[in-house]
Amino acid sequence: MLLKRKLIILGYGAAGFAAVIRANELGIKPTLVGEGEIGGTCVNVGCVPSKRLLRLGEIYSYKGKLPENYRTLFDDKDKLVSALRAEKYEKVLGAYDVELIKGKARFTSPTSIKVNGDVMEGEKFVIATGSSPAIPDIPGLREVGYWTNVEALSPDKDIDSLIIIGGRAVALEFAQMYRRLGKDVAVIQRSPTLIPDWEPEISIAAREMLESEGIFVVTNAKVKEVNKGKKVVTDRGEIEGDEILIATGRRPNVDLALEQANIELNERGGIKVDDELRTTNPNVYAAGDVIGGNMLEALAGKEGVVAVDNAISNAHRRIDLLSVPRAIFTQPNLASVGLREAEVRNGESRTVFMRDVAKANILGDTKGLIKMVAEKGSRRILGVHMMGENAAEVINEAALAIHFKMKVDDVVDTVHVFPTMAESIKLAASAFFRDVTRMSCCVD
Ligand SMILES: Cc1cc2nc3c(=O)[nH]c(=O)nc-3n(C[C@H](O)[C@H](O)[C@H](O)COP(=O)(O)OP(=O)(O)OC[C@H]3O[C@@H](n4cnc5c(N)ncnc54)[C@H](O)[C@@H]3O)c2cc1C
Repeated sequence: MLLKRKLIILGYGAAGFAAVIRANELGIKPTLVGEGEIGGTCVNVGCVPSKRLLRLGEIYSYKGKLPENYRTLFDDKDKLVSALRAEKYEKVLGAYDVELIKGKARFTSPTSIKVNGDVMEGEKFVIATGSSPAIPDIPGLREVGYWTNVEALSPDKDIDSLIIIGGRAVALEFAQMYRRLGKDVAVIQRSPTLIPDWEPEISIAAREMLESEGIFVVTNAKVKEVNKGKKVVTDRGEIEGDEILIATGRRPNVDLALEQANIELNERGGIKVDDELRTTNPNVYAAGDVIGGNMLEALAGKEGVVAVDNAISNAHRRIDLLSVPRAIFTQPNLASVGLREAEVRNGESRTVFMRDVAKANILGDTKGLIKMVAEKGSRRILGVHMMGENAAEVINEAALAIHFKMKVDDVVDTVHVFPTMAESIKLAASAFFRDVTRMSCCVD
């Protein structure tokens, strides 16, 4: 008879690791199955390397010139990736009681998977297999060749120009990264605006910011084909570059023979789950990018924990998705949490420009704005959207305010450190009561 494992976790990225740790906290030794580099997307080919390269670009833009050999920047990034992978994943795994199996998993029944030819039975499962770049069906693209985030983070050749197809987080970050490495960069976006699911004022400001650095941006452009010489033909003209980066989104990794386990997909092509992260198979849960929702590292980690709590302890935990913040790590950062003004039926908003925030002036970068959206009457904060220096840090305060259902008045009533970028949140709240362009510093 086959040994029935208590909990099998598929995928060892953020969601899978969080699930392992929670399982141990609940007294369970899980089986962790994964393929590829341990740690998954974020540490190897996502957040960590991209943020390091952006930071290096920032440092060298202050210095005014790049190092002689700009490839040393990639070596620096590689060192950090190896160090963090060892510290945050390999060593962490050693600290927990877990059975690690390397290999690709596929379901063989509602209660079993096959890995490396071995079938294993499980009582409960958490699917955390992440996502991969979605490659659009553009005539000629496959023949001509292209980069995804993986190749762009570890290029095997020197280029002078890069054409980026896409206009969301990854596209914006790589556009600035490569521009600051001294390359000509063009961004081609199909929608009428960049980052179309963000507050329109932020989309406009983001475009201006990229253009101010010499990045060529074209929106409302449909790519018709790609020809030799890396020529991208759109309905708005042609553009030629040394390489093409595809940044048109990510698709969930669902090549798992899910039909064998009665697990259905949702309309986004991800695994269908209910509010408690349970799939259409009651013994199987899913967490992270594989669901096809907001693809964020911290959300994946949270979902890994919640999935295990619900699978093992029937805890009925749900995640407050309204207060999940997101950021794009250009300089200045873009960040947002909660609802956009257009999504609130009975709402009102106030906007403060960074030129009216003392710290932005002190830092010498007054690009951007902060917009706070609140419910009319109660003034409960429902959304905060911003572009400004360190906005990715500042937005955490707004996330807390939304999670704890705070009102604009609560923020105004809280003394903030002067001068900080976080003070911009207080100024946006104060703008509901007075004209902040006519305020002296720190008036309550
Ligand atoms: C360029 C880039 C930059 C990013 N920057 C940020 C950022 O700054 N902040 C942020 O919050 N998010 C960022 N993200 C998103 C973030 O990386 C993901 O949301 C996060 O890594 C998802 O974690 P996960 O555990 O769901 O999946 P992953 O980390 O992708 O892990 C999935 C794991 O499952 C394994 N796997 C897949 N199929 C199988 C199978 N059949 N059997 C066994 N194992 C399998 C994979 O090999 C992998 O190890 C970025 C993403 C990219 C691409």
